[in-house]
Amino acid sequence: MNSAEDVWAVVLELLKKDLTTVTINTFFDEVKAVSITGTQLTLMVPTEFKKNLIESRFKGYIVKALSELFSGEFDVQFIAAENFTPEAETSSVEQDLDELYTFKNFIVGSSNRFAHAAAVAVAEEQTRNYNPLFIYGDSGLGKTHLLYAIRHEVKRRHPDYKIILVRGNDFLSELITAINTGRNLEFHEKYRSADLFLVDDIQVIAGKHSTEEEVFNTFNTLYEAQKQIVFTSDRPPAEMKTLAVRLRTRFEMGLIADIQPPDFETRSAIVQNKSLQLGLPLSDAVVYYIAEHMTANVRQLEGAVKKLKAHRDMEKTEITPAIAARVIKDMTISTEYEPTPDDIIEETAKCYGFTSEELKGKKRDTGVVLARQVAMYLVRQILNLSAPEIGSIFNKDHTTVLHSINKIASEIPKSQELSITIKDITTNINSRGN
Ligand code: ADP
Ligand code: MG
Repeated sequence: MNSAEDVWAVVLELLKKDLTTVTINTFFDEVKAVSITGTQLTLMVPTEFKKNLIESRFKGYIVKALSELFSGEFDVQFIAAENFTPEAETSSVEQDLDELYTFKNFIVGSSNRFAHAAAVAVAEEQTRNYNPLFIYGDSGLGKTHLLYAIRHEVKRRHPDYKIILVRGNDFLSELITAINTGRNLEFHEKYRSADLFLVDDIQVIAGKHSTEEEVFNTFNTLYEAQKQIVFTSDRPPAEMKTLAVRLRTRFEMGLIADIQPPDFETRSAIVQNKSLQLGLPLSDAVVYYIAEHMTANVRQLEGAVKKLKAHRDMEKTEITPAIAARVIKDMTISTEYEPTPDDIIEETAKCYGFTSEELKGKKRDTGVVLARQVAMYLVRQILNLSAPEIGSIFNKDHTTVLHSINKIASEIPKSQELSITIKDITTNINSRGN
């Protein structure tokens, strides 16, 4: 056990002593172990915001687990993926992903055959008609993988091409900064010069009216210059309701390819493949057990294999179907639980560093007010109580409640920080049911 990924898998396992599985899944799902040198593990986190969040809340736990694992002092360092601009493409992080997310490593089955074939056709320039190529599907089904694979292949064929791969969110914030600082032209220049333009999770631009014009212009310029564009999204253009019609039409002009959840056969092949990659030979019985019981997505299958490997490394035992069953049970969350208003208030308070009493009380500092508004919003969202009912819980009149709920609802689309926080609180609330 020596690669950063292996170490990280064991650390995740050790963290279970201190943190709930849901907390671990929520916060560390998108964390990638990048490298391990001397006595330092480097982890990549998608955004600066998440990086700060994880650093402040969990660094201590991670260091503790590492020190336990290596029986000595060990440190962890975090980097935010969004700080890697396309110019920094040669960074080791990007290269790692480049090596990992290739066509070679992508298992093809009936659920993703079409999207895979389309991605290959674009990467091999078999046609110019698939422009833009729009790949959509639920989370964890391989969209990002295919996007990187396209880049990998095009880079191999055309080392001189300027390839830009950007996450939809980063593209948006860059654009907003450009607009606010009057650097629209620079922004245009940068993107207009791409030979291949790849946007991961384009759905985030839906509903951002202030930026749609610029987004449209950028795509149009590239399209008219016959440069290949590829988008991934969690939904098809037709379901991006708030998207300006001409943008949606633009997205639909090329080829739309969906990825569905993998069928049993593909799931088995993926488990088999990932376990071999990790040096963890699994018996057919275990492979089938996992493929049978984890049906949602590939990320989850991969997670199960990594957890089993961590288990094997720590316990030094062969993996049996019974062990697999236990690990899988740990990973699936019960959905039947219904929280009480107090559960919701408590989780919200905890997240913002207040007590439930403070949230239900009269204090009016900015921090408490925001936390209180979020709690009201969540009580409404999750339990669908009326404004007077919520008012009686928080000792406020119903107009204050309505104002609070509306305020948060209108802030969410504008603030990534707020929407992530709310997602986290919701996950924590749900995890109380376990
Ligand atoms: P998405 O972008 O659709 O949310 P990802 O591309 O990030 O999903 O995939 C999640 C994980 O599952 C990644 O580690 C990826 O390599 C892996 N994965 C997804 N589909 C496949 C596949 N068909 N074969 C091998 N690995 C896959
Ligand atoms: Mg993705």
